[in-house]
Amino acid sequence: MLNQGINLADIKETNNSRVINLILNQENITRSEISDITQLTLASISKITKKLIDYKLIYESKYVKGKSGRRAIGLAFNYNHSYILGVKISRGYYQISLFNLKCELQESFKYDYVLDDAELFIPILAENIKKFIKKRSDIILISFAVPGPFNHKTGRIELMTEYTYLDQVNIYELSDYIDVPIIANQDANVACSAVAGYYQLEEDTLAFYYLDKGVGAGITSSYELIKGNLGTAGEVGHISIDYNGKDCSCGNKGCLELYCSTLSAIHEINERYGTNFKDIECFFSQTQNKSYFKETINRLAKYISIGALNIINAYNPSIIVFGGEMMKGVEYLKEPILQMLEKNVVKNIYSETNLIFSDNSYDFVLYGTAYIGVDYVLNNLSLLLKYK
Ligand SMILES: [Zn+2]
Repeated sequence: MLNQGINLADIKETNNSRVINLILNQENITRSEISDITQLTLASISKITKKLIDYKLIYESKYVKGKSGRRAIGLAFNYNHSYILGVKISRGYYQISLFNLKCELQESFKYDYVLDDAELFIPILAENIKKFIKKRSDIILISFAVPGPFNHKTGRIELMTEYTYLDQVNIYELSDYIDVPIIANQDANVACSAVAGYYQLEEDTLAFYYLDKGVGAGITSSYELIKGNLGTAGEVGHISIDYNGKDCSCGNKGCLELYCSTLSAIHEINERYGTNFKDIECFFSQTQNKSYFKETINRLAKYISIGALNIINAYNPSIIVFGGEMMKGVEYLKEPILQMLEKNVVKNIYSETNLIFSDNSYDFVLYGTAYIGVDYVLNNLSLLLKYK
């Protein structure tokens, strides 16, 4: 019986993709080594590599020792073949960044939201993106990180707590203005895709716990991001930690985000102690000698650890990375969080869960737009094989 669903074009694309992946994983690999691994004839490999070299996607890097001891030519991937624009949408600002295919940042600009009229957000964003596209024609993808819950089927930001300006904005409307393919994912998911690369991790189950102006989590299982039906999986910010608690704009009560996002935390601190801190960084840096510092840290650590506990129990990651703006206080929060988790997680699960605390110096969301984008173009080679 014919293997339905696989046509010649698919097989060609699969073979191109296998060859590219081998070159990505082993720089200076030779054609005969690729032939041995793929079981494709040397003639087929030569044909594929010729095409990829024509497209300047790979190049002959240097002479290496071949199988029989004779000199052979090694192949390498051209990471500057084309570029990806990463767009990070945040509460308070957005950032457009240019990356090469090695996820190396080339340039980046931050923008304020200038108007209250959300209708104008997409046209203004399009103008700013066009400035990059005018400078270079080899931008092959625009990869968005958007605060969740973000519906990747419709392109809409379904709810943006504390920053309602962008509620219901449709990211995909950008394609009315710009002729470059667009992908968009929830920010914590995007961040999770940068974790393995940054920490050089091999593990197949990871969690990125994003404690920023909002709260969310990105989870991978078997090296794949868990996205759910609409792309909103991992929205732990709307897990209730108190069913009689504060009202949340999602409709529920006591959502985690109302207690340990940096915006909620600073509201609560200012309300309780009559202070006037503008952000969480000011609190961490200015109040260490104040009587309420320790109790605030312990309260925050408790909320954060309840969220982590839920992530660990629901997803059982081998590694959980704590990231986002809240980690500006990592030196104070880490110990109490560890103590609470050790007490509250099943002993053998706790001992098999590696907890990593970032210090917020690396922007996982920003770089994640590139990681998730590169992954996308490598799975959609037609995007790469358009540019020579
Ligand atoms: Zn909620």
